Amino acid sequence: MAATVLRNYVNGEWREAENSGYLDVENPSTGEVIAQVPLSTPAEVNGAVEAAQAAFADWSRTPVARRVSYLCQLADILAKEEEPIARTLVAEMGKSMVDARAEMKRLLENIETACGMPVLQQGDKLIGASFDIDGEVIRLPLGVFGMIPPFNFPAMVPFWFLPYAIATGNTYVVKPSEQVPCTMQLIAEHIHATGLPAGVFNLVNGDKAAATALVDHPLVQGISLVGSTAVCQQVAERCAKNNKRFQAMGSAKNHLVVMPDARISEAVRNMCTSCFGCAGQRCMAASAIVCVGDETYRRVCDEFIAAAKEVKVGNPLDPALVDEPNAMGPVISANARQRILGLIETGVQEGATLALDGRGIVVNGCEKGHFIGPTIFTDVKPGMRIHTTEIFGPVVVMLKVDTLEEAIAIINDHHYGNGGSIYTQNGYHARKFKLEANVGMVGINVGIPAPVAYLPFGGIKASQWADIKAQGKAVVNFFTEDKIVTERYWPED
Ligand code: NAD
Repeated sequence: MAATVLRNYVNGEWREAENSGYLDVENPSTGEVIAQVPLSTPAEVNGAVEAAQAAFADWSRTPVARRVSYLCQLADILAKEEEPIARTLVAEMGKSMVDARAEMKRLLENIETACGMPVLQQGDKLIGASFDIDGEVIRLPLGVFGMIPPFNFPAMVPFWFLPYAIATGNTYVVKPSEQVPCTMQLIAEHIHATGLPAGVFNLVNGDKAAATALVDHPLVQGISLVGSTAVCQQVAERCAKNNKRFQAMGSAKNHLVVMPDARISEAVRNMCTSCFGCAGQRCMAASAIVCVGDETYRRVCDEFIAAAKEVKVGNPLDPALVDEPNAMGPVISANARQRILGLIETGVQEGATLALDGRGIVVNGCEKGHFIGPTIFTDVKPGMRIHTTEIFGPVVVMLKVDTLEEAIAIINDHHYGNGGSIYTQNGYHARKFKLEANVGMVGINVGIPAPVAYLPFGGIKASQWADIKAQGKAVVNFFTEDKIVTERYWPED
């Protein structure tokens, strides 16, 4: 079957890309090429930004209730189309269908939250700021914003920003990850079907070159980037230099702390989903488990390794796996697999014990897929590379400490600070962890503390550049400029 050739969506119409070259998009379970994505030129990016700029004047004057009516329609369409979109997502990204459906639910939740913009965008008024003087804060859109997502959530991550950006009256350009561009292409077709005015939403495919052109375009007021910390830093620096707004959400190494009083069997089930869901390629995946006390360590290691052996590794679109919550697909690419295998070898060289080795896994009928089975290292010490590095695969490191204070110190000494959880029945320990663990998103007896769309999402330390987090009420600040009006009227003569 011929691979689909993807296009750009600019000014309300689909455009064939210029002669800029194409990249193959592969199904990571089978190695089959499913699409070709154009590597758009800076000129094509400029075209999208100019279309968005041209649409801004009318769109920003469109009443907010009218603006969100397009989003309400989109939510209806995407809810009906959830299954085909989830299948496209799985075909290009490799996560399980259960995970893809959950991703679609969070996407919808974000649209629904943004539909509250008539309330969320309201300003403040202070009558009597001084004698006969009132003060007022009005929240205005700024113009064109850009979004650069990672490969691991091709549907949800753009929607941490997109619905809020356009509901507040801005116009938007998305450059999907070149590794997984098909999902956003399909969603863009549904956006088109809502009749959203031309130029309000634009899609330009491409790689780093297109992303950089978007970041650097003088008409772009701000960028939301989600990706690796190295790229976040580069984009943050470029935006800061040009006095642009930016949010850049980066890499992670999320720790789960298990206290001696934890409900271990429940915790272990939870850990398996957190560590091996999405083959460990979630920014909120747990990848380091810290057990407090010898007995806790022994029990968690035994039960977790046994549970990890039950994970069903295979092609998530195999009919036997489509509704399987314990299914795990491949990692994204041959390169990613090689990098992860290299880090497993590093762990062995560093002297950690490879208690469960997922390297040799074979999935029948998917010999060209990029599979790695659940892999667990025990006897890991803080500072080993397998502990300091974001492996971004199904590889977990187990550490043992004597006290909660030591566990918190390991988290706080770590470079990244996205999420972290504690398993305990003890309120004092839970509260101490909540207050003292230096991470942006905390879980208490929850393995993936990813907040719902009504609350902000984001980390701290090297996991996030800039302070405004994604989604919910918080992101409205990113997409609006506060203008402060001080007014007085003298009496009529
Ligand atoms: P990546 O950094 O390789 O790419 C992310 C995006 O940036 C892609 O669209 C890519 O084309 C673009 N890009 C690459 N180089 C660029 C440059 N120099 N300037 C501008 N854009 C550039 O990340 P990835 O491998 O696609 O995604 C995985 C990473 O994303 C992991 O580190 C993961 O932790 C992180 N992530 C973080 C969060 C979060 O909320 N903190 C969420 C999801 C993923």
